[in-house]
Amino acid sequence: MRKPQHAWIADIDNSYDAFVPLLTAKPHCIEDLPTEIIEAQAKQQESKTSRNFAYGDHKQQKGQASFPNPYTPEIEAFDQSIGEDGKLASLVPDVATEFKPLENTTLTFVDTEEKLAKACEVLSSVTELAVDLEHHSSRTYLGITSLMQVSTREEDFIIDTITLRKHLGDALRPIFDNPDIVKVLHGADMDIEWLQRDLGLYVVNMFDTGQASRVLGLKGFGLAFLLQTYCSVLTDKKYQLADWRQRPLPEEMVKYAREDTHYLLYVYDRLRIELLERGRASNAANPYAPLKAVYHKSSALCLKSYEKPEVKDYNFYMLVARNKALQSLNQVRVLKMLLKWRDFVARKEDESNHYMLPNHVLFQIGRDLPTTRNELRDSCRAHVPPAVLLH
Ligand code: AMP
Ligand code: MN
Ligand code: ZN
Repeated sequence: MRKPQHAWIADIDNSYDAFVPLLTAKPHCIEDLPTEIIEAQAKQQESKTSRNFAYGDHKQQKGQASFPNPYTPEIEAFDQSIGEDGKLASLVPDVATEFKPLENTTLTFVDTEEKLAKACEVLSSVTELAVDLEHHSSRTYLGITSLMQVSTREEDFIIDTITLRKHLGDALRPIFDNPDIVKVLHGADMDIEWLQRDLGLYVVNMFDTGQASRVLGLKGFGLAFLLQTYCSVLTDKKYQLADWRQRPLPEEMVKYAREDTHYLLYVYDRLRIELLERGRASNAANPYAPLKAVYHKSSALCLKSYEKPEVKDYNFYMLVARNKALQSLNQVRVLKMLLKWRDFVARKEDESNHYMLPNHVLFQIGRDLPTTRNELRDSCRAHVPPAVLLH
């Protein structure tokens, strides 16, 4: 498979420089985009050094400032508005709206600009959306958002975030930053970062069903558990680690992806009702406390700000501490160098660390301390990994 990121390879910045937010405008804004972000974007354009960095550059990068979330004022303002009981009362339905059976629901695969424009018309006309992402992290350094599923109460969309990567930010930003449209996600910790990193999208007004199940202290926190409990739908997570870059996407994977958002707005109804019931039962004077907690926790996730990975000494000591085979100081020194070298090579080739040189091979080399190319290959045993083949 040709790596899809070749279509935008010039824009991939695997250097040791801090991540610069991708957005150039904020449709629903209280405060404009910070000037330091605009300046950093201009500098990045000018220098075009993103593909041109050297081993050892990481030493200069230590302590380099990353940017705070550019939507901080808007997320905080939304979170504050939620604190008012009148607003919370209006947020809980009396009864949950039944979900439509999957087979009676229209599914639209969005992979052209024309289809995207049509989808955005629908998505900006509603006040509730369920959203999920699928991600690929093996044959790329930073990771690639490979699919976005969005469901309204009426229909499902699957958006090709690989083909439409350059267009999605501007098209979806007025929806994602709109405080009057709730974005319902399940376990959004990573989704928030992926949206920022690849699409320049920031979420204002999120309800995380994973956070809700934690506040309620349910028996399970996974989506599969919620779907089984509230929808009597059995799903299995076998495609969680599948290669989501594949096109056309196998039918089975389409169904799997779709189920991640199709039922979520119904689950959102059920959870809000249960959160209010719980509040009433535990403290009648303050019945909205559990609901409020879910919104605050969700806002806290929205406030995350994507940062690129670093080669941290901490990770190194964790690895060494866990491996009994490394005994001499020399072995430990070699391992530390190998880790930095592996990370550098992965950035250059735009591959994951694991793909370039899996940990178990890294430890074999650290243990054997080969001194010639042949010894190095022997150290790798049967499968010589790309990092060694290339160098
Ligand atoms: P999900 O929200 O469950 O659809 O997962 C979103 C993405 O997270 C998947 O496309 C995977 O790339 C990644 N992912 C999910 N579960 C796991 C897991 N158990 N281990 C590693 N990656 C995972
Ligand atoms: Mn997810
Ligand atoms: Zn998913």
